Amino acid sequence: MKTETYIDRIERRAYIQIVLLLLFYTDTESSAPRGLTMNEDHIVDEEIKVDICRTMATLYRRGLISATGGNVSARILGTNDFWITPHAIFKGELSASDLVKIGLGGNVVEGSKKPSIEVPMHRAIYGKRPDVNAIVHAHNPVTLGLALAGIEIQPVTVEAAFALGNVPVAPFALPGTEELAKAAVRHIVGVKAVVLQNHGVVGVGSDLMTAEATVEKLEEVSIAQWVACGLGKPLPIPRKYIETGKRLYEVS
Ligand SMILES: [Zn+2]
Repeated sequence: MKTETYIDRIERRAYIQIVLLLLFYTDTESSAPRGLTMNEDHIVDEEIKVDICRTMATLYRRGLISATGGNVSARILGTNDFWITPHAIFKGELSASDLVKIGLGGNVVEGSKKPSIEVPMHRAIYGKRPDVNAIVHAHNPVTLGLALAGIEIQPVTVEAAFALGNVPVAPFALPGTEELAKAAVRHIVGVKAVVLQNHGVVGVGSDLMTAEATVEKLEEVSIAQWVACGLGKPLPIPRKYIETGKRLYEVS
């Protein structure tokens, strides 16, 4: 298979950004992507699916999910539908045909595989957060370990203080239940990520790369904090920079 070069990727992203701009500058009540032809609609779907598969492969390579753990979804801009990863299929090498399109009512719109059991959580978050277009659920081992030990993420690195902001911990609920969806939604208001107690993490963003980056930063920060606390006491960011930094980077 041909390996995508950096230039290929930039060109692909530029094309999809042009298509997505059409979504914002057209106005119709239709539930289909606004202003797109059937062919462009198909291209948008394919781009989203490819990006979801790439994200899952990266999460698996980085040890943030196991072979069948974790799930990722992305909203189709201008519609109430989103694409999500399938249930119980190896997540390190998903292909676009493995993904499932879900309506905001929870029904399967397209795809032959069984969708992730966490559809209720993804649906609930999209319903609550119109600014969120992508959701990444992973099982970050160090982030989860800190939460299990009752240790909060501290603003000890630039990423933690100015990129992640507050990361609340939602109480335990069984995977795939409405109870978990409600717990996640209650804690995701106004933040970029939440820890699901005894389970994993959820990162959200205006696009898939942003949500993925949040989950990766969360683990990066957790590892730094874990090492620092294990070997000594983390040096804090000088207090005089904290409030300025938060205003500058608009974090909660
Ligand atoms: Zn999970």
